[in-house]
Amino acid sequence: MTDNSNSKFPSEAEVVIVGVGGIVGSMLAYWLAELGQKNIVGLEKSTIIPSDIASTAHASDFVYNTTHDKLGCWTTAFSRKFYEDNGFFLKKGGLEICRVGDDERWEELKRKVASGKAFGTNVSLISAAEAVEKFPLLEEESMIGAMWDPDAGLVIPRSQEVVNFAVESAKEKGALKTFTNTPATDFEIEDGKIVGVKTDKGTIKTNKVVIASGIWGPLMGDKAGVGVPLMPVEHPLLFFGPYEEIQDTEEMLVYPLLRDQGNSAYVRDTGKFHGGMLEWGYYEDKNPRLVDPEDIGNPDKTMLSDSMRYLELEEIAEPLEKAFETTPILSELGWDEKSSFNGLLSVTADAGSLIGESPEVRGFWLCEAVWVKDGPGCARLCAEAMVNGKTQVDMHSFDISRFYPHQKEKEYVKTRAFENSQTIYTPAVHPREPYITQREMFVSPFYEREKELGGHFENEVAGWERALAYISNREKLDKYIKEVPLRENEWDTRHVPYDVANAEHLAMSDSVGMINLSHFPIMDIKGPDAERMLEYLSVAKVGGNTPEGKVIYTNFLDEDGGVHADLTISRLGNDSYRVVTGGADGNRDWVTLRNYRDDNGLNADINIRTHDIATLGLWGPKAVEALGNFIDPNEIDIKNFPFVSAKNLTLNLSGGKKVDVWAARISYVGESGWEIYFNNNKDCMTPC
Ligand SMILES: Cc1cc2nc3c(=O)[nH]c(=O)nc-3n(C[C@H](O)[C@H](O)[C@H](O)COP(=O)(O)OP(=O)(O)OC[C@H]3O[C@@H](n4cnc5c(N)ncnc54)[C@H](O)[C@@H]3O)c2cc1C
Repeated sequence: MTDNSNSKFPSEAEVVIVGVGGIVGSMLAYWLAELGQKNIVGLEKSTIIPSDIASTAHASDFVYNTTHDKLGCWTTAFSRKFYEDNGFFLKKGGLEICRVGDDERWEELKRKVASGKAFGTNVSLISAAEAVEKFPLLEEESMIGAMWDPDAGLVIPRSQEVVNFAVESAKEKGALKTFTNTPATDFEIEDGKIVGVKTDKGTIKTNKVVIASGIWGPLMGDKAGVGVPLMPVEHPLLFFGPYEEIQDTEEMLVYPLLRDQGNSAYVRDTGKFHGGMLEWGYYEDKNPRLVDPEDIGNPDKTMLSDSMRYLELEEIAEPLEKAFETTPILSELGWDEKSSFNGLLSVTADAGSLIGESPEVRGFWLCEAVWVKDGPGCARLCAEAMVNGKTQVDMHSFDISRFYPHQKEKEYVKTRAFENSQTIYTPAVHPREPYITQREMFVSPFYEREKELGGHFENEVAGWERALAYISNREKLDKYIKEVPLRENEWDTRHVPYDVANAEHLAMSDSVGMINLSHFPIMDIKGPDAERMLEYLSVAKVGGNTPEGKVIYTNFLDEDGGVHADLTISRLGNDSYRVVTGGADGNRDWVTLRNYRDDNGLNADINIRTHDIATLGLWGPKAVEALGNFIDPNEIDIKNFPFVSAKNLTLNLSGGKKVDVWAARISYVGESGWEIYFNNNKDCMTPC
C-alpha cells in the first residue's frame, strides 16, 4: 500500500475521511473518486492501511442476502455485486438452519423466504437431509430443515484486501492521499459548519468531513458535538481445530456458510487460511456486553488491538454446549484459546446504519454502523449524497437525521443498543416488538385516561406513547368484532389486539371516535421567506392566493420527484404556516426545512411546537354532532367551516369552562371530522 505519510501534510482538503483503513472509509474514498471528487485526504489512526486495529480486520466476511429490510437487501446486493465484479467474492451458498422443536424459527424462515421474494433475493426452504448434503458436518436429527441461500458467500481473500484495492483505486485517480498513524484529534467548527480537522501533524482546512470510524464514531462525534447513536458490543469469535479433512485444502472455503440462529451462532471453515480451522461466532442474546466508547483500548481488557478483547470461556460455555448438538465436530476438535477473542462491532439505537450529514454540524458527515456485507453499498449512498446531494435509492431508514435529539442521549443509546444487541441473530423480531427501555418519555394530556380505558401502548413513536387499541372496547364493540375477519396466525395479532383495533375503526365509520395524535410533529413557520421555502419544497401550492385558514395535504419531493415527506401545511397568516408531519419523520422533515432555508439564505423562523400542543382527531359521520355538543353547531356547519380549512374555536366545557382550540377540518379516510389542537404548555400563552 502506498502511503503519503512521508509527504507534506496537507493544509486543506475538499473532503477528509476519518478512518480510511476500514471497509467503509476505503469504499467512501473509492466512490467519492468515482463520482469525480478530488482532493480527498484519508486519515487513519492505525500505522497501516488496511488498518490492523479495525473491526474490518476481524470480520468473518459473511455475505447473506436476505433480511426483512428492503434497503438492507439493496445495500447487500449492491455490495455483493461490487465484490463479485472485482474478484473479491466466493459464492458458496449459505444455510440458516432450524433446530428441532424451534417451530417459531421455522415460521420465521418461511417469512424470510417471503421477504426474499419481495426484495429480489433467491432463498428457499430445504429439508434437514438436504442441509446435511450441503454441509456434511451437521447433525441431521438436530434440525427441522433449513433456509438455503445459493448466492450467499464470502468476501475473499479478506475484506481487508478490498480496503487495499479501494484505496489504491482512488489514489490512481489522483483523488486521494492517505496518512496513517494520524488520528483526527478534534474539529474546527464555525457558525455550525465544519471548517477544519485537527491532527497532531497539523490542521486540515475543509468544509466536508466524513466519519467512517466504526466503533470509535461516538468519540469523534463528541469532539464536534454530534450525537452518534451507536455502542460497541463484544462479539465472541472462536477457532476450533485444525480439522484434518480440510487441513491441506487449497480452497478459500470448503463448506457453505452456516447460521444457527436458534443458538445465536454461526460456523464457517477457514479454508486454506489458518490451516483448516472451523470458526464459530456468537452474538450474546441475553446479556450482551456493550462497551463504552471511552473504554475501547482499556489495557486490562484489550488483546492484540483495540477492537479485540479477551474472551472468557464461561461467557460462551452454554451456547457452545448447544452448538455441539448441531455441529458435534466442534466438541471433537476443541477450541484454540490463543486465537479466539471478543471482536468489537457497532450496534445502534434502532439497529439501522447511520448515514448522512449530521443535523448538528453542517459538513460533518457520518457513514457508521455498517457491516462488511453492506460496506460498498452504504458507502456508495453516502458518497452520492455528499457529491450529488441525492441518492439512487431512498435511504431514509439509514439517514442519521431520523433521530430526534433525545434519541441520541447517552443513556437512551445504551439501553436501546442493549436491546438491539439481544436480537442481532436470535429470535424472530416482530415488526411491532415493543422496546422495554426509554418508555413514557413523552405522554399526551390524554394518557392517564387512555390507560384507564386499557390502552395498548406497545409501540411508542419518537418517544411518544400512543395507544393502538383500547381493551375496554372489546365488550362495547362486540357487534363489530364479529364482523372483523379472524387473523388465524398468532404472529399477525402479536402485540396488538387487531380485532379490537379493527372494530374501533368500523365503529368510527358508523359513528364517531377520537384518536390521540399528539405525537405528530408540529412546526410553525413564519417570516418573509416562509412562502418561498414551502412553495419550493412542497408539490402543492401553499402560498400565493391560498387563503388564510386553508389546510393543504401535500408532499415534499426530492429532485427526481420521489416523495421525501408526507404532511399537511396550513396557512395561518400572510407569512405564517403550520407544518404537521408524521411522528417518525419529524426530525428529518425539520432538517430538510432548516437546511433549505439556511442554504438559500432565507428569512423564516421554524418554531417546533410539538410539545406545546396536544392533538386529538375527532372523526366519523357523527363528528359534527359530537363537536356540536361543545359549540354553536352553526359555527361548525360545513358552509361555515368547509373541508380542508382551519380556524380558532372556543369550546364550552361542563361547569362553564371554556377552552380555546385551533381546529383543522380534515380527515384521511373520507370521513367527516377535525384535528383539534389544544394548548399543552401552561407556560406558553401563544394560542395554538
Ligand atoms: C469478530 C467479527 C466478525 C464479523 N463478521 C462479519 C461478517 O461475517 N460479515 C459482516 O458483514 N460483518 C461482520 N462483522 C462486522 C464488520 O467487521 C464491521 O461492521 C465493519 O468492519 C465495520 O467497518 P468500518 O469501516 O465501519 O469500521 P472499522 O473497520 O472499525 O474501521 C474504522 C477505522 O477508523 C479508524 N479510526 C478510528 N478513529 C480514528 C481517528 N480518530 N482518526 C483516524 N482514524 C480513526 C480505525 O483505526 C479503523 O481503521 C464482524 C465483526 C467482528 C468484530
